[in-house]
Amino acid sequence: MSDSVNRRTFLGTAALAAAGTTIPGLLAASPPEAPWVARPQASKFAAVGSANGIISVRNAVELMQRGRDTLDAAVEGVKIVELDPADDSVGYGGLPNENGVVQLDASCMHGPSKRAGAVAALEGIKTPSEVARLILRYTNHILLVGEGAKKFALSYGFKEEDLLTPASREKWLRWRANRGSGDSWVDVPDKQPIGMEHTGTINLNVVNAKGEISSVTTTSGLAWKIAGRAGDSPIVGAGQYTDNEIGAAGSTGLGEANIMVCGGFLTVEHMRQGMAPTDACLATLRRVVAMTPPRLLDERGRPRYQLQFYAVNKAGVYGCAALFPTKYAACDATNGARTLDGAALFPGN
Ligand code: ASP
Repeated sequence: MSDSVNRRTFLGTAALAAAGTTIPGLLAASPPEAPWVARPQASKFAAVGSANGIISVRNAVELMQRGRDTLDAAVEGVKIVELDPADDSVGYGGLPNENGVVQLDASCMHGPSKRAGAVAALEGIKTPSEVARLILRYTNHILLVGEGAKKFALSYGFKEEDLLTPASREKWLRWRANRGSGDSWVDVPDKQPIGMEHTGTINLNVVNAKGEISSVTTTSGLAWKIAGRAGDSPIVGAGQYTDNEIGAAGSTGLGEANIMVCGGFLTVEHMRQGMAPTDACLATLRRVVAMTPPRLLDERGRPRYQLQFYAVNKAGVYGCAALFPTKYAACDATNGARTLDGAALFPGN
């Protein structure tokens, strides 16, 4: 192999083969084929993300197959869950901060145009992913926060609404009542142990038949967070990242742990070095563990929190890995939408 590009290509395909994820179109590309020979393609329409985004991955692939742009497909996919009052991890019905106020974070990237947009601590708007896309599309900025982000959304005709549902409000009231023995609230029975933070987010990474790539992440963040806290989801390079030449990756779980390694970016960089998506996610998780402060490690050196990464490469190969066993959602042209087991760095809970 004469140059580094060839070596990188070789390493990449070898890693894919080792992971049992051979891509016909990639591995069989070397001998020149007669024009009339059918050329096997990797599954080009692919979407991968968190398990709560099963409906999103299906919708995104259907939209891309109908010719919609990758970013629009991804945003329309997650929007379904943002608008669903039954999902308490994103958008409308998301669990609030410690004051009972829902503050939403989102970011997105569009590979072909190399643009990004994000919002943090956005209140009163059901679909932060759409606001992030507007910032990407119509401004020279990348991240708007709080009141400014809301005013920006209102200027585009979004309606300000109460994002608490009766169910999410009830959960917050219970948490508030049970928060501390020395406070003035009377404890109420609750199965949720005190101090345990609800988490939940949708990250979605997509690629179309032309190899165009986009990503989006949307969340209501950690439940009961300190007002104004922004997690990893609105941080481009942490919550999600796309490089149209390589692939896209994003995360769910404890955002602070992800921010410490810029995990979306790092996972894409691992793919650039030739790793298959699942291996790239695992490599990022090893960095996460190495960067975890001792107070967040148990006696065996394992993190006391969960963190997942999801990734897709330009060829349409996708994967997921987490600190502890997890499920993820994926959809491609061959297999349709399905829930799969991700790789885990540690067994058990
Ligand atoms: N990553 C999100 C955050 O830290 C939460 C989650 O994914 O559950 O805000």
